[in-house]
Amino acid sequence: MNHHLPWLILVVLFGACIGSFLNVVICRLPAGESLVRPPSRCPRCGHPLAWYDNVPVLGWFWLRGRCRYCQTPISIQYPLIEAATALLFGLVFIALYWGGWRPFWQELDLAGTWPALLVMLTLVATLIAATVIDARLFIIPTAIPWVAAIAAVVVLPLASFWLEPLRLVAAPAWPQWLHPAIGDAAVRMGLGGAAGLVVANLLMWLGVLPRSFPEHEYVAVTGQGQDEGGRDAGGIGGEGPGASNDAQDSGSQASGGGAVNSLGQGGDEPWYEHPYPRREAAREVLFIAWPLIGMMLGHAFIAPASSLPEPVSVLGAVLMGALVGAGLVWVVRILGTLAFGREAMGLGDVHLMLGVGACLGWFDAVVVFFLAPFLGLGYTLVLTGAGRVLRREVRQVPYGPHLAAAALIVLIFGGETLLDALGVLP
Ligand SMILES: [Zn+2]
Repeated sequence: MNHHLPWLILVVLFGACIGSFLNVVICRLPAGESLVRPPSRCPRCGHPLAWYDNVPVLGWFWLRGRCRYCQTPISIQYPLIEAATALLFGLVFIALYWGGWRPFWQELDLAGTWPALLVMLTLVATLIAATVIDARLFIIPTAIPWVAAIAAVVVLPLASFWLEPLRLVAAPAWPQWLHPAIGDAAVRMGLGGAAGLVVANLLMWLGVLPRSFPEHEYVAVTGQGQDEGGRDAGGIGGEGPGASNDAQDSGSQASGGGAVNSLGQGGDEPWYEHPYPRREAAREVLFIAWPLIGMMLGHAFIAPASSLPEPVSVLGAVLMGALVGAGLVWVVRILGTLAFGREAMGLGDVHLMLGVGACLGWFDAVVVFFLAPFLGLGYTLVLTGAGRVLRREVRQVPYGPHLAAAALIVLIFGGETLLDALGVLP
């Protein structure tokens, strides 16, 4: 018990420093600026900050929230994000090693799980950055969830070379009550599906598969949801070079979007919609078919997971998590777009769940997927109850924060424990 305390303090301090870096990511990544150069400076007067002004949380209070050189107020967002990251890192650490409901983490302890802990903390950091950017700009730059996915794909299989039972904590792809054969199939489907995903990306790169929702086809829409006439070519392209084409996240949920037209009160600023969303959704089916075929072929032809080397087996479990997380959101996006005739859920959310699934495994990714809408519903009810249904908030409901919150809850409690507590388990 007590031997954890120094580590907890270290993890919290580490979180504050990572939070400081997340501030840089949140400010610079959507604008397409470099994350390393120039070093921290006042956004107003451009004066570089001294190291002691840069100390997480404390620096802001030390300066009393103002630039030392030009007295411009510094946003409270900086110390808030640093403090939130520190607290969430500490919370996750306590939940995994002290809570009593993550048995594998506690049995294996820090010595047997620290690489997996690093992956989970990476996930938490990416969730914070994605949440803040999505809430502000309605986009999730794909680079952010990919950091978590790559951490899981690289670290977890590598660590299993010397940490024997790592798969139990790192990619808990199947709970105890599921048949072992399901876990075995998941590993093979993960390997095959990832190969299919590579093929699909290759075909898109070669131009054989079309890109869906090309930016230049978007049309500006205002107020009442009517076409403002002018086809604003490339209008949405100005959203920020840092966000790739895939990060194009209209942010509007199907349900949130439906509320728009009824509430329109004379449009001021336009937003952008694709004129033929159903056609584009059908194009995405052509892409998603490849990983699905890969999964089936992997299931049929790859050797049983028990005969694979442990790192390959862990890799398969991680890949399956990524595919299931991303796939669930993508299928909802395609079905929602076909049903409602407007772009439902952004590709940014698909990428976000790719990172979540890679880190948490396919089972917990499914739990996250079904938990998130309830959080979204609760949030909307609270907003409505508080009478704060501002037009802007209703018009575009970013879904990323709800997915991120659900992922954090599942990380803290474990999907299986959560379902057990809710009485959903068989
Ligand atoms: Zn200044």
